[in-house]
Amino acid sequence: MKTYIKEIKQMINKSLAKSTLLSIGIRISIIVTIMAFLSYHHIVNILEEQTLDKLEKYITERADKESIIFKLAQDNHNTFKQAYLELWSKRKTANANPRFDQLFNKQNDGTLRLTTSAFTGFERSHTSSSDYKGESRWISGFIGRGAPVANKEFRNRVLLSYDLVDQFAQGWSNRFANTYVSLPEGVNIVYWENLNWAAGASSDLDIPEEEWVYIANKKNNPQRKSVWTGLYYDQTADEWMVSCETPIDDEKGEHLINVGHDILLNNLFQRVFDDRLEGTHNFIIRKDGRLIAHPSYVELIQKAHGLLNISELKDTKIVSQYQNISESIDKYGNKPQIINDSASDVFIAIAPIEGPEWYFVTVYPKTLLASPAQLTAQFIFFLGFISLIVELVMLYLVLLKKVLHPMERFEKASKLISEAQYNLSPVLSDVNLRKDEMGRLSAAMLSMAEQIHKNTLTMEETIKLRTKELELAKYLAEQQARTDSLTELANRRSFFEIGSLALQQTEEGGGTLSVVMLDVDKFKNINDTYGHAVGDEVLKRIATALQQSLRPTDLCARLGGEEFAILLHNTDLHGAKKVAEKIRVLFTTIVIEADGEKIQFTASFGVSQLTSKGEQLDDLLKLADERLYKAKNSGRNCIVSQ
Ligand code: GH3
Ligand code: MG
Ligand code: MG
Repeated sequence: MKTYIKEIKQMINKSLAKSTLLSIGIRISIIVTIMAFLSYHHIVNILEEQTLDKLEKYITERADKESIIFKLAQDNHNTFKQAYLELWSKRKTANANPRFDQLFNKQNDGTLRLTTSAFTGFERSHTSSSDYKGESRWISGFIGRGAPVANKEFRNRVLLSYDLVDQFAQGWSNRFANTYVSLPEGVNIVYWENLNWAAGASSDLDIPEEEWVYIANKKNNPQRKSVWTGLYYDQTADEWMVSCETPIDDEKGEHLINVGHDILLNNLFQRVFDDRLEGTHNFIIRKDGRLIAHPSYVELIQKAHGLLNISELKDTKIVSQYQNISESIDKYGNKPQIINDSASDVFIAIAPIEGPEWYFVTVYPKTLLASPAQLTAQFIFFLGFISLIVELVMLYLVLLKKVLHPMERFEKASKLISEAQYNLSPVLSDVNLRKDEMGRLSAAMLSMAEQIHKNTLTMEETIKLRTKELELAKYLAEQQARTDSLTELANRRSFFEIGSLALQQTEEGGGTLSVVMLDVDKFKNINDTYGHAVGDEVLKRIATALQQSLRPTDLCARLGGEEFAILLHNTDLHGAKKVAEKIRVLFTTIVIEADGEKIQFTASFGVSQLTSKGEQLDDLLKLADERLYKAKNSGRNCIVSQ
């Protein structure tokens, strides 16, 4: 394993693998990054669409849910109104006196209050079997000073109000803290469990001047629909409330009564704050900018007694969000909508709460979309990175097998060729089995090596042959340079080279040597008489005769023309003279036949001997030549040695 890793490391360091892997790695990295980037945007887009759908559904549901209590209040009021108007036509002219006086007690402060038993409870009397039964309780009533208490119509209106509060309020008490009826003349009849409202009411309470009454009068509510008070905080109950008031007019448009509910809001607000999508927050505002409930401004709203306007806040974010909300409502009307608030990078979902003209608002930060998209993009990037590594490893392995390994083989093979080793088969055997370009390259390399090998061998043969020829030619040339071509004796140059060496050796080693010079007598005559070829034949016979009569250590040469010289080792003048005599005699015995005639010749000899140190061969020859000249002058065919 270790060596395998080491091998991989080495291979990676080799430039082909490194550069290929690097360039592919860079390309794949770029693709992976682009993919992650595109995925991020794609996911953000998808998430945004999904979130907007989800948010619209959510805000609609939330607003619908929180609208229920307000719708219910209006429904109750309509039920009450129907029942009131139905009965009113029959009862407005009835005799009210005994019952009114029985139920309402005149107080010392000038006001009238409902009898205490209406609050503490009594068994209802029944006039028919369809009448509502059971105990009547928790009702208190207040008639302010100056009310027309003697007026029959007024008395009937008060009595009918009391009867219907008694009939309906108990049934509504599980959803509403109270049910009450107010009269424009300053009357209020209240059903409120455990709370005797009238007992606590101050004698100079001017009921028509209370918000929960005046908002419903004709001047303030000309459309005669259910209207809502502002938000208010009940200190004793520690409860946020809002009141719904519905005016009831007779067929002539005469204002008879208002029916009202106080709606407790603590639970609703708590739901707004707590029940929210993760990462978001909810709040409630009125279209005019009044902040009804906001998790960050609970105390401020309380301080302002529910009259806090967003424009009073220093929070520029919420101010600009409100501006967007207000503009959007103006543009698209009173329906659920989603505002893209790019300034604070949020989506603002709003939907109207039916009733008090409030809006349920959810603020959804866009960063909530980014983080899952980021996670996905990161995941894709991570996956891409892992696949990049795997791809590179696989690519490397393929590269290793398909390219690097054969390349390495080719490298080895080239090295072998450079070392003049032409058997590449063991190195290329496995590459050679392949059918691809590498296989073909391998085959080409093998045949190339074979061809180079053949050529080299041929070349070597040729060179050997040529060398031999040259050596021979050189040898021959050297021979020729030293040999006389006619007689095959040493020539003048050779005689001097060898003779000088011999002279030097003799001088160094002691001993003596002698030179004999000879010249054919009247040789010109032979040429002239028998022709040049015969002259040549004579010269050849002289050479043969000389070689036969001399020792192997003696040197015999043709100095030129018909003149010859002999160097005799370890021979003194006397010995040399003897040799010359022997040769002279031998010459006289030679007979050459030409053109049927017998030809004979003689020669004259001059002999000299090495006598003193430092004497040159030239000197010896000169002396011998002088003596030869003497021999010529002495009649020829003789030897002169003095
Ligand atoms: P002397 O007795 O005074 O030496 O008389 P000679 O005729 O031998 O002397 P000379 O110098 O007058 O003549 C030598 C002749 O040898 C002349 C020349 O043509 C002949 N000769 C020299 N070299 C060769 C050779 O290689 N072959 C033949 N056939 N003749 C040669
Ligand atoms: Mg001569
Ligand atoms: Mg001669």
